[in-house]
Amino acid sequence: MALIVQKYGGTSVGTVERIQAVAEKIRKCRENGDSVVVVVSAMSGETNRLIDMAAQIDPHGPAREMDVLVSTGEQVTIALLSIALEKIGAPARSYTGSQIRILTDDAYSKARILNIDDSRVRSDLDAGRVVVVAGFQGVDAEGNITTLGRGGSDTTAVAMAAALHADECQIFTDVDGVYTTDPRVEPKARRLDRITFEEMLEMASLGSKILQIRSVEFAGKYNVPLRVLSSFTEGGGTLITFEDDEMEEAMISGIAFNRDEAKLTIQGVPDRPGIAFEILGPIGQANIEVDMIVQNVGDNDTTDFTFTVHRNEYAKALEILRQIAAKVGARKVVGDDKIVKISLVGVGMRSHAGIAAAMFEALAKEGVNIQMISTSEIKISVVVAEKYLELVVRALHEAFGLDREPAMG
Ligand code: ASP
Ligand code: MG
Repeated sequence: MALIVQKYGGTSVGTVERIQAVAEKIRKCRENGDSVVVVVSAMSGETNRLIDMAAQIDPHGPAREMDVLVSTGEQVTIALLSIALEKIGAPARSYTGSQIRILTDDAYSKARILNIDDSRVRSDLDAGRVVVVAGFQGVDAEGNITTLGRGGSDTTAVAMAAALHADECQIFTDVDGVYTTDPRVEPKARRLDRITFEEMLEMASLGSKILQIRSVEFAGKYNVPLRVLSSFTEGGGTLITFEDDEMEEAMISGIAFNRDEAKLTIQGVPDRPGIAFEILGPIGQANIEVDMIVQNVGDNDTTDFTFTVHRNEYAKALEILRQIAAKVGARKVVGDDKIVKISLVGVGMRSHAGIAAAMFEALAKEGVNIQMISTSEIKISVVVAEKYLELVVRALHEAFGLDREPAMG
């Protein structure tokens, strides 16, 4: 008999009928002899609806009251689901975050979980009940309601699974797993049976918005096997786990991309100690996050710097960079916000040489100019003109055989 934590997102509980279908799924799981703790989101659209109402009064309402407000969405779902479970003969009990005491810090709207008291949950499970927990919310040491950030129910589920030492945390959503790349860009994208936490973090931070990133970090830290699967279709989904022997065959697990990038270059800056700090210091002070950074080899005692920022921050960064250029006596500032970053991700890179070369060869064949390159242990990223996004993703998908099942053994 296993202990499973299941999480159902907003679309999976978007209507009363869907809530009843979820109850049916849970009942079946219990009939297999498993104990089930269920974490739910608000019904789809509900959190936005609540925020919009508050915004009609004040677009910047007090953070404490905003959390009291948005946490109500999940409270509706836990009650409806428990009613649905009881109706079909599955004893159930619902709990808000403060009732089971999901203790968090006091950072409203982005609180972090500090501790979960599992005693109540355990005694309910021992009594044969399904425990239904409101996602996304907790309570601080003073008893104030807090929330965990948008998409935070994923993190609640993983934290519950960690606290209970559950056998698996299953995230039911509207996609049937994690894909080699976005199927809207490459229709040949294939669902992965497994992916490592590290790879998932890279894929997630690069824009595959299947799970809240924090939940993946949490699962990796506490070694909670995490599975993403569809609540609408049958199938095993994708298991996110630690690296093991079975996974070694795949060199590359996926291709992630990020459309929200912009590039800035400052040319002809004096090549002297401290210059990188003089340039990037003010950018950091303006709270602009810098992603890739490239400094060219100095020439005539001057050098060029190029870096990327989020596209929303492009105008602000450009303005700051112009001021810096005047101050340090740089020759010119140029920028481009029609760029994308495309990355190959795979733990297999650690043990295979030549992946970067194969990537660049694929781009060369398509005649695509690479503007920037960066690498980390399990990722190689290139910046190219936005118009090449589809072309490059498909070319790489083909070149690395991602549409085929990896060979066994
Ligand atoms: N209901 C919250 C949101 O919409 C939390 C969640 O769905 O995970 O962000
Ligand atoms: Mg979600």
